[in-house]
Amino acid sequence: MSGGLTDAGVAELARRLRAREVSAQELAQAFGQRIEAQAALGAFLARDEALTLEQARAADARLAAGDAAPLLGVPIAHKDIFVTRGWPTTAGSKMLQGYQSPFDATVVQRLAEAGCVTLGKLNCDEFAMGSANENSAYGPVRNPWDRGRVPGGSSGGTAAAVAARLLPAATGTDTGGSIRQPASFCGVTGIKPTYGVCSRYGMVAFASSLDQAGVMARSAEDCALLLSAMSGFDARDATSAQRPPQDYAQAMRTARQGAAAGKPLQGLRIGLPQEFFPAALAADVGGAVRAALAELQKLGATLVDVSLPRTELSIPVYYIIAPAEASSNLSRFDGVKFGFRAAEYADLLDMYKKTRAQGFGAEVKRRIMIGTYVLSHGYYDAYYLQAQKLRRMIADDFQACFERCDLIAGPVAPSVAWALGQQRDPLQDYLADIFTLPASLAGLPGMSVPAGFAASAGSGGLPVGLQLIGNYFQEGALLHAAHALQQATDWHLKEPPGSLRSPPPEGVSAAWERPGAAEEPTL
Ligand code: GLN
Repeated sequence: MSGGLTDAGVAELARRLRAREVSAQELAQAFGQRIEAQAALGAFLARDEALTLEQARAADARLAAGDAAPLLGVPIAHKDIFVTRGWPTTAGSKMLQGYQSPFDATVVQRLAEAGCVTLGKLNCDEFAMGSANENSAYGPVRNPWDRGRVPGGSSGGTAAAVAARLLPAATGTDTGGSIRQPASFCGVTGIKPTYGVCSRYGMVAFASSLDQAGVMARSAEDCALLLSAMSGFDARDATSAQRPPQDYAQAMRTARQGAAAGKPLQGLRIGLPQEFFPAALAADVGGAVRAALAELQKLGATLVDVSLPRTELSIPVYYIIAPAEASSNLSRFDGVKFGFRAAEYADLLDMYKKTRAQGFGAEVKRRIMIGTYVLSHGYYDAYYLQAQKLRRMIADDFQACFERCDLIAGPVAPSVAWALGQQRDPLQDYLADIFTLPASLAGLPGMSVPAGFAASAGSGGLPVGLQLIGNYFQEGALLHAAHALQQATDWHLKEPPGSLRSPPPEGVSAAWERPGAAEEPTL
């Protein structure tokens, strides 16, 4: 019984709830049981069954009263970077241990108003800094496709939970790829909208000019349903885009003008930046991405060659700008206002120092130091200002492409998910962000859409994501193309083999402690 329920997506669950075939309370319980059974994935950081059931009861009452809110009773969870009133918020950091927000983030509030029931808070890299979820102070998340591998990051808990059917959809944030890359590594669908579409109010800040909320689910349709509810202007975020509310599910379904039957993408020009297909691209990734592009062609799209000549520069540019903003944003964590404070100290300055030394993890400290350095008087012009100029040129490169195409496509990441504990050098993680950083720096919307599975001996069966990038506010066009692909293919419907029906094997935690001792792939 619960297998059937937990396999259903958002649209299907909303339909069953409205038809009164299932109650919000039954759903909350069914997913709650799955979450407990799959606790070894490490996807959740906080749960509160009583609070979840209280929300579910309220949703059932609204349903009984004929309330037509679109997501009434649909269970979701939030990346632990969104502040929430009932649940603790840690941002994956010891620094926020014990912190309880007095208010809900706008995204959280809007999804609650739309009727969603919250199952809890999802693990993530500390302050969203990372690409593997190994920087969480609360332990790693495992990839449901192979528990010896990372789920990607920083929204690793979100991606693993959606892939393992612990919930039908969940929120994430993307500063430089943190929705798209974990979605790709876990074989789920994720969208990061245009910067400003979702309010940043109540999102623990990492790099404010890049941070953007979004969603992961198992289909473009389900993403569209949540995005419609969580987006829109918010006066409490000064960078919120002033646009009327959007119905992304409608936009997703709207046929392209002049498209013939069976060719829903007729007339759509998809640009392939040559820099996104380097010779060094893993064959597993290139093969799957090209297969997905061939499907898009069958649906009527045409492929055109374009160029994003500053793709490689997006790495140094991002890793100057993001740490610069992080060093400023994270100065608020001083042991006085939020969460953790060192137990012993001599005076106020010593308290600051010890709190920050003990509360932040290694990657966060590294970025605070880099950020402080590039913003310092003698180096500002040489690094930060240069990076800002290049950021503008990267955005201009995209506009040149969009004169020749409607969407841009390529891989999300240069490889499939790597083994837990394998990548100890932070620079390797930074380099792996190469295909997601350009759209982030330009503030453009991007998606990861399941595009099949790796075929090579070492990583066979691991999911690969196709990245789609649109021009500003073209979320509808992105979702339309992704939806058309998902109507014609079934990659997004595939389930991780081991995780669904049975609890994880004994002893999996040891693999992470001993790099190299990871399990063999399960497919
Ligand atoms: N991997 C990138 C980083 O560590 C992106 C993270 C993100 O998008 N939050 O900064």
